[in-house]
Amino acid sequence: MDKLHTEINRRPYVKRTGKEISEEANVMWKKHLERDDSIIVDIFSGQLRSSLHCSVCSHYSNTFDVFCDLSLPIPKRSCRGEVSLQECLDLFSQEEKLDKENSPMCERCNRRTECTKRLSIQRFPQVIVIHLNRFTTSRWSISKSTVYVSFPLKNLDLGPYGPVDCGPVLYDLYAICNHAGTVNMGHYTACCLDENGWCFYNDSSATPLTESQLQTNQAYVLFYQRSRSEPPRLWCPRKLIEAAAVL
Ligand SMILES: [Zn+2]
Repeated sequence: MDKLHTEINRRPYVKRTGKEISEEANVMWKKHLERDDSIIVDIFSGQLRSSLHCSVCSHYSNTFDVFCDLSLPIPKRSCRGEVSLQECLDLFSQEEKLDKENSPMCERCNRRTECTKRLSIQRFPQVIVIHLNRFTTSRWSISKSTVYVSFPLKNLDLGPYGPVDCGPVLYDLYAICNHAGTVNMGHYTACCLDENGWCFYNDSSATPLTESQLQTNQAYVLFYQRSRSEPPRLWCPRKLIEAAAVL
């Protein structure tokens, strides 16, 4: 009956326009703010759009989720032995085929069908936290990838991963969290930019750092801030801690 109905459905299939999608996203965002509204949301929260396309009836549906960090897969090591952040972003936003068992219900067919899924950024946060997913969990073990991932210090353009025609959306790097060691024994350090330049934080020591020393295969979490307009710099880790102490 479902199949017969799909074939003779009198309601024509309509693809939503970009404006309709953004209105829907805004409604979901306002709902989120009704429950969750803090300086953390102001600075770090964005909205991710998951767009599903049904292979049977061609229906498109969107779901919107709030994110505080983007967890990016690292492509398999290439012959060059290194990958770029852009390649990780491309893999993250690549169209993925879902078989019937793994796909959600199609709103229009009312059943599980083969479909394609694509992730994109609907709303850009002031600061985007990018997690390079170096740890892979398989059935029996966890492994860590030590692939060198190169990343831009300035003008990371996330526009291509946003809504259609959103134009360039530029970000500048201001902090890196590094993970050294293995799955069983690791150590975290950080590189942060402040008024005096880059500084390397390792437990109780803080030492100045040059830009050429920032990129290593230990880079684990990257913090980028929107590079338009003058930043209030309230999200400097130290300022945030001070703000939290006042509260
Ligand atoms: Zn369908």
